[in-house]
Amino acid sequence: MATAAATALKPSTPKPLPPPNVDFYQFAETLSADELAVLKKVRDFMDSKVAPIIDKYWIEDAFPFEVLPAFKELNIGGLGIEGYGCAGGSQLLVGLVAMEMARFDSSIATFFGVHSGLAMGSIALTGSEEQKQKWLPPMARMEKIGCFGLTEPLVGSGTGGGLTTTAKREGDTWVLNGQKRWIGNAPWCDISIIWARDLADNQVKGFIVENKTTPGYSVEKIQNKIALKVVQNGQITLKDVRVPEANRLARAQSFRDTARVLRGTRHYVGWESTGCQMGAYEHALKYAQERLQFGKPIGSFQLIQDLLAKMLSNITACQCMVVRTAQLADESKLTDQQAALSKAFTTAKMRETVSWARELLGGNGIVVDYGVARFFADAEALYSYEGTYQMQHLIVGKAVTGFSAFV
Ligand SMILES: Cc1cc2nc3c(=O)[nH]c(=O)nc-3n(C[C@H](O)[C@H](O)[C@H](O)COP(=O)(O)OP(=O)(O)OC[C@H]3O[C@@H](n4cnc5c(N)ncnc54)[C@H](O)[C@@H]3O)c2cc1C
Repeated sequence: MATAAATALKPSTPKPLPPPNVDFYQFAETLSADELAVLKKVRDFMDSKVAPIIDKYWIEDAFPFEVLPAFKELNIGGLGIEGYGCAGGSQLLVGLVAMEMARFDSSIATFFGVHSGLAMGSIALTGSEEQKQKWLPPMARMEKIGCFGLTEPLVGSGTGGGLTTTAKREGDTWVLNGQKRWIGNAPWCDISIIWARDLADNQVKGFIVENKTTPGYSVEKIQNKIALKVVQNGQITLKDVRVPEANRLARAQSFRDTARVLRGTRHYVGWESTGCQMGAYEHALKYAQERLQFGKPIGSFQLIQDLLAKMLSNITACQCMVVRTAQLADESKLTDQQAALSKAFTTAKMRETVSWARELLGGNGIVVDYGVARFFADAEALYSYEGTYQMQHLIVGKAVTGFSAFV
């Protein structure tokens, strides 16, 4: 039998280090078995198919078409939309899937959000019964991929009042002229939802344009981005593009209807921003546990632990916020100002979190191979798209003061 002295001298086996836990307040416990199963499917796909290849595509500014067959097998096209072959499900599930995707890669989450949320969402919310029956099933199967064309080269934040792309009715045909900028998926997708001002009544209307077969439609890829490099953004030119009346979104009568689509997708960006922080944090924590300085893991230093605790606080606060906005959306109670507050807060916190993660890695924080740099750069696009921080706060400011400060 070992003596007490011998036992005291025996080197102790190091305790296993805790794995990253980005669900600090145990949200997973509140989900149903079905929701958890969808999330697991998405996580496995992102982990096994996307994570191993995504840095290469990010560096090359290219979209990983090789993962699309496996993506289609997830059967999540039209998540949150009921009927028409869509995946259905709650807004909470839509958000959780976005967060899970963005935890691995914000570009893939964006690709899916543009297709399923913005393009399919426009048709689901503002299309006629015939339009929904025609367009949604192939989009749900992801045989046809969509994009959402609202922003223009000269009109970004001011799209509500100043769209310059025009629509002129000629009998049963509409003639579209103008340009759209920043349109995600546009360089390669099949269907564009184009928002244009009707010359007759000055109201914004939506049109379904088949990109690949419509004369007068052309698209140029936006080059040299430093964020969301995997998403292909395009500048679309519409030159006397003729669209049948059957392709005008029947229930989109004014910009108010465009805003209804954006309300849902803004809170989706809140989830993406939360996922982006989670991915950066996980990489940073692993690095803190492994990287030695002064003979010790840097994770044992108080100031590094402070960075990690601040990151986890941001993530957890954002999770609380987006879970609540999803609950409100599921009860059809989510307002523009609630969605705006969530988008602004989560994206601002995301910027803090990813910059702390980058800081924690020292020099390696700016090298793509160490995991954090891609999240750090991609965060900048999430911060600005779907309405900038300032625009979201103007929406909130108007709601709380009663004064509009937009112009
Ligand atoms: C990666 C990426 C993907 C995108 N994808 C799409 C897409 O798929 N479809 C689409 O339609 N659009 C898309 N966008 C466009 C995006 O929504 C716009 O970039 C955004 O709305 C801001 O418009 P802007 O870039 O023209 O900036 P601007 O409107 O020119 O704003 C410039 C600055 O001025 C500030 N500002 C403007 N007005 C005011 C004011 N009244 N008071 C105070 N500050 C103000 C803004 O906050 C901002 O800081 C995408 C953008 C990016 C970067």
